[in-house]
Amino acid sequence: MLVLTCHACGVTAEETEFHAGGEAHLKRFGPGSSDEDFEEYLFMRANPKGVHFERWRHANGCGKWFHVARDTMTLEVFGSYSAQAFAPPEELLSRIEDRRPGWRGQD
Ligand SMILES: [Zn+2]
Repeated sequence: MLVLTCHACGVTAEETEFHAGGEAHLKRFGPGSSDEDFEEYLFMRANPKGVHFERWRHANGCGKWFHVARDTMTLEVFGSYSAQAFAPPEELLSRIEDRRPGWRGQD
């Protein structure tokens, strides 16, 4: 079972207290964008075997959204950070790199 820490309120709990919101850091396209961009935004998602950045909501707690970096294969959680961040914090990326050497070069 996943154990996550809400970035907003600091509560650590099992995943049943949270609600998954899909891939983090999607570039959103709306009216006026090309059909290809809009299609990609609506339907195309990364499905990595390894490090993944996701959106989670503390549904049974503070109700806030936050981001989580975790390994989809081992369920290891590397950390959580603000949902307002446009990219994962460098400190978190370094922590992932320490645990998964060469990880950044795989994408
Ligand atoms: Zn919370």
